[in-house]
Amino acid sequence: MRYELLSPAGSFEKMRFAFAYGADAVYVGVKSFSLREQATNLTLEELAEAVQYAHRLGKRLYVTTNIFFHNRHLAPFQDFVKEVAPLGVDGLIVSDLGMISWLREHYPEIPLHVSTQANTTNKESCRFYEKLGVCRIVLARELSLEEIGEIREAVSLELEAFVHGAMCVAYSGRCLLSNYFTNPRLYAPGEKFSPGKTLRTRDANQGDCAQSCRWEYYLVEKNRRNQMIPLEETEHGTAILSSKDLNLAAHLDRLMSVGINSFKIEGRMKSIYYVANVTRVYRHALDAFLKGERPSPEILSELDKVSHREYTTGFYFPHNESLQVTDPAYLREYTFLAYVKEITQQDTVCQAMNQIRKDQRIEVIFPDGRNMELPQPSLVVKGEEVFRVQPNEEFVLKGVVLEPFAILRENPRVL
Ligand code: SF4
Repeated sequence: MRYELLSPAGSFEKMRFAFAYGADAVYVGVKSFSLREQATNLTLEELAEAVQYAHRLGKRLYVTTNIFFHNRHLAPFQDFVKEVAPLGVDGLIVSDLGMISWLREHYPEIPLHVSTQANTTNKESCRFYEKLGVCRIVLARELSLEEIGEIREAVSLELEAFVHGAMCVAYSGRCLLSNYFTNPRLYAPGEKFSPGKTLRTRDANQGDCAQSCRWEYYLVEKNRRNQMIPLEETEHGTAILSSKDLNLAAHLDRLMSVGINSFKIEGRMKSIYYVANVTRVYRHALDAFLKGERPSPEILSELDKVSHREYTTGFYFPHNESLQVTDPAYLREYTFLAYVKEITQQDTVCQAMNQIRKDQRIEVIFPDGRNMELPQPSLVVKGEEVFRVQPNEEFVLKGVVLEPFAILRENPRVL
């Protein structure tokens, strides 16, 4: 059976890093027809270049077009497909039955994947999609391994499953929380619903979720509206609407045994560092299991070094583990500092993503799994040696020759 590690790519650069760190395939959004309007989606020109880049490496690229279509979306979508079809993408991810049927009729050459948004939870639905000519189903996240095994026996199309990342508190993303809580009518004029965001309704099912389930909430009594009563489940408060993050890295063998072909990492909004490091862990885990070995605890612990919520194995196993987080804060010990843009004969040119100080404990991660300390580097900005590099600045690591795709992060632990 062919297995695939599938990573998110919210931009061309993230795609390059995903491939370098071991992804077999990536999924991207294209402006207008993805479930991530706010992500740095690709333009059509970038998509054409990205497909060529992927194919040069012998890898695959899928395009997400899984909004819930209203009549007004149909004509623009059909125009969009006309432009995408000649590019040779390896699949379109679609959730709308009408659009699947239309695509099969007009573009039978484009491979179709049924999105997890379609909530495919049983073998008859899978058989139906198989007859329709779909080649892959992204299973609903709410399925157990036993149910997936039954589906595998019933159909021969490819099965894809989420193995890592954020989960919706609502059933496979069918949710109106974001639409409700970002509705401008709920706010006073000029008020913002969250820092830095303008006020407009953000529809989760049109690719624009504000992740309202992860916000912190208070209780307000009708007659004392200016008195916010804290909700406390633990000393950290509450996150009543928030789900833990999925993490199946140590259990891929069990997912392989029930016939899943593609292992999907969530997170087109995540940083280059997140995509690279999570992909690196899953590449190692998948390769280890294919050799009949177990992934090393050291590499698995890298999943604790990216920003995340508490982890869970979701619905796959028969247990009653709570999916609700106990700590509303994201766990983000390590900070993404910079990534390598170019190597010269004696130096390394980097792009800063956060502020970097010379006296920080800087660590470099590499695609092959190595990590390396970088003590007191010489930081040069525009020809001047500096103590501090500001976010978004390009800088040179003087006298240090790293490798393409290396990433710098801050290790918060004191030596
Ligand atoms: S608000 Fe939360 S549960 Fe609802 S769609 Fe967005 S991420 Fe999912």
